[in-house]
Amino acid sequence: MLLRRFNRAARRLPFFLLLTAAAPFIFEVLIHQWRYQVPRPATKLDPPFFTSCQEPDVTAERENAVFVMLARNRERYRAKKTIESIETHFNKWFEYPIMFLNDEPWDPRFVAELNETARGRGIFEVIPKEQWTFPDWLDQDSAKQSIEEQGKAGTVHAGQEGYHHMCRFYSGKFYQLDVLKKYKWYWRLEPDVDFSCAITYDPFVQMAKHKKVYGYTIALWEVGKSCPGLFHATSDWKESRGVPSSSLWSAMIEASWVPFPFRRFLSWMPHRDNYGDAWSLCHFWSNFEIADMDFFRSQAYQDYFNYLDKTGGFYKERWGDAAVHSLAIAMLAGPQQVHHFEDIGYRHAKFHQCPANAPGGQLPGSSSLAGNDPWSPEIAGGVGCRCECNGEETYNYQTYCLDKLKQPNTPNTGWFS
Ligand code: GDP
Ligand code: MN
Repeated sequence: MLLRRFNRAARRLPFFLLLTAAAPFIFEVLIHQWRYQVPRPATKLDPPFFTSCQEPDVTAERENAVFVMLARNRERYRAKKTIESIETHFNKWFEYPIMFLNDEPWDPRFVAELNETARGRGIFEVIPKEQWTFPDWLDQDSAKQSIEEQGKAGTVHAGQEGYHHMCRFYSGKFYQLDVLKKYKWYWRLEPDVDFSCAITYDPFVQMAKHKKVYGYTIALWEVGKSCPGLFHATSDWKESRGVPSSSLWSAMIEASWVPFPFRRFLSWMPHRDNYGDAWSLCHFWSNFEIADMDFFRSQAYQDYFNYLDKTGGFYKERWGDAAVHSLAIAMLAGPQQVHHFEDIGYRHAKFHQCPANAPGGQLPGSSSLAGNDPWSPEIAGGVGCRCECNGEETYNYQTYCLDKLKQPNTPNTGWFS
């Protein structure tokens, strides 16, 4: 009897030994995961500035702001569509200037048509050559060869040299253009964009009032193949400059389930930092951006950009400005300085967000809003103003990236304030 018990215990011994040996690792992994948990606040800390139509206050003071659209001459028709849409849904009341940027001289037809669509408030500028080219320390032949290889590998847009210049330009050069220096705020537009709700208040004024730095509509996954080394470079910079992690930064990370010290061996893999943790690839989609350009002009951001630029990753890979801006915002701005414009109906390519209309908040008798109808049904919980689409059919990766990046609204101080 005793012997049988002893035998049974002896048979279990390896299991217990294994468990005892594994326990510290399991414990360590759980603590590691917990460190990256971002608690969801009990109350919404980043609500829309308004949740129904407002009588547009056209006499109110404006912010020092400008719309910016980078475009090619051949995108005339698609550019016009965007401008018609923003005029109808916002700018006919608020009348901000619209700056068009091109790396080539403008076709006079583009200028004439778009200026008419912008009701005379178009500004047409050509980007100086030195701001739209390879950096002079980069070997152009090998950069061009790499671009060709990326194209052959089928990475979206990565075979086009112009696209790489564009991403680098929007990541680091654009805020320093002489023609933009006098403005503080900008709202980025692209050809082929639809706005589908009336925006009856001034987002720039509200951003300034609420001390926001960066506003977005859509958050989604980056194309992994375009930027395998971006996150590693970013976290190296973050660490070398001693930048503390905010909750927004933690929300960008998918903590590794491999225990210390073994997870360090994962660090050579794409999208991982020195410690083996990964970036989720979630980012703010930068074709819509309302932002304080002083953030990008800050020493910290410029230092970050220059560090990235020196690695050559804008050409050896195809680092996008959306990912670069988003990682910078997550590192350098506090989560409370970021605003999700959930009340703005927005579509570009196949992605859109379209809120439902706020019940009882559509100002049916307003003469200023007379051109903005008909609107789709009002739905309980809706926050939109005269939106022309069904708020139940939004396509915005609501469940993953938006949730992830929206949740860390816990106030903590960013470097940029
Ligand atoms: P996607 O939205 O990332 O698929 O790329 P787009 O083709 O929409 O390009 C993003 C923005 O950069 C748009 O505003 C384009 O008009 C602009 N763009 C891209 N490449 C060039 C280029 O070579 N020259 C100019 N002037 N604009 C470009
Ligand atoms: Mn686009």
